[in-house]
Amino acid sequence: MNYKDTLELKARLAELNAGERTKLYKRASALRRERQPSQRRNIETNLDLESLPLKLGPSSRGGSLEELVLELILKDESVEVCETQRPVIEAGTVVWLGSMRCRVELPTGMVVDCRIASHLAARQQTDVAVGDQVWITGDDPPWVEKVEPRKTKLSRPDPDNAHIERVVAANIDVVVVVVSVVAPPLHPRILDRYLVAIEYGGAKPLICVNKLDLLPEGWERDAELSQLSPYIELGIPVVCASTTSHEGIEDLKAHLAGKLCVFVGHSGVGKSSLINSLFPELSIATGSVSEGYGRGTHTTTASTLHRVGEGIRIIDTPGVRSFGLWDMDRRDLHLYFSDFRPHEGSCKYNDCSHTHEPKCGIKSAVEKGLISPERYDAYLRLFDGL
Ligand code: GDP
Ligand code: ZN
Repeated sequence: MNYKDTLELKARLAELNAGERTKLYKRASALRRERQPSQRRNIETNLDLESLPLKLGPSSRGGSLEELVLELILKDESVEVCETQRPVIEAGTVVWLGSMRCRVELPTGMVVDCRIASHLAARQQTDVAVGDQVWITGDDPPWVEKVEPRKTKLSRPDPDNAHIERVVAANIDVVVVVVSVVAPPLHPRILDRYLVAIEYGGAKPLICVNKLDLLPEGWERDAELSQLSPYIELGIPVVCASTTSHEGIEDLKAHLAGKLCVFVGHSGVGKSSLINSLFPELSIATGSVSEGYGRGTHTTTASTLHRVGEGIRIIDTPGVRSFGLWDMDRRDLHLYFSDFRPHEGSCKYNDCSHTHEPKCGIKSAVEKGLISPERYDAYLRLFDGL
């Protein structure tokens, strides 16, 4: 659209009253949302739009005002004359995510049902996740138009395509990794996988060892818990708890005060029971509910952000509390072992994988006792699995 056309458009817009302008803008926006994703992609990549089959006739000149506005929007989504006509734009937090829909909490505390703009919905759970800060616009109902960059995230692979990243929760401060003793028994090695996923997303981990009531006091308990010392040495908080005896529940709550958190861990370790002990008002279903990628559960449940006492916010992701590492490049794995970091750069080869190469700084740090052998083993095991 040339300068003269734009002037013509502005002049004709100026003749309208505010109500007519808003109506026109809404119709244009609705049309924009209905457009095929292929056309949208073209616009986003600034390809030649002249070749697109515009529904509205070829020329702006001599067309109706609506045709002019629509053509302008199809050519350039950032046209200022249109942006200024938006009814309302507000920021909020996604607190519930369903299919093509979500709920957004505004700073006033009001929760609004929203649609997700088609260009975001196409990559839902990647582009929009519970915990995201978003901009909503329009009404009846409003739609989510833009997602702010995330501070942190927790991702897992898509169940059907491991190359696609699914963001389970956004902007979380703490990921509580729950393990149990006795039933199921403590296998500290499963922690490494979670810790890599957490480090990748930038949140802080906390390890909660549940079902302590099943383990007698004394040397048995000490021997079992001593398996966690490599993680304590990493500076990761470890809270021992029992939902039966209520041991550790207040301690856990104190760690989560003022934070946005999410609970992860294998099925049956007591995540739902812990959430209920911490926040009885939530009444999360416990026990026999199957989890993970099993048919049914992850399709019928939606992630929800709950605001509970002491400034704690918790994202409950019922179907996806157990998850694997999404398609991570082997060469990047070492980046998510924070204890390797001080020794990076001392390897003979720049592209050292820290596995078989001679004069490897990481291996020599293990030999000197600066990196725990358990953690190095964990690295090798995860490396082999990628
Ligand atoms: P989730 O799959 O991780 O959410 O685990 P649930 O919360 O559903 O708990 C699984 C089972 O462990 C249930 O039968 C709970 O009653 C039981 N359980 C949970 N916490 C404890 C605990 O601290 N001690 C004991 N003995 N059992 C627990
Ligand atoms: Zn190396």
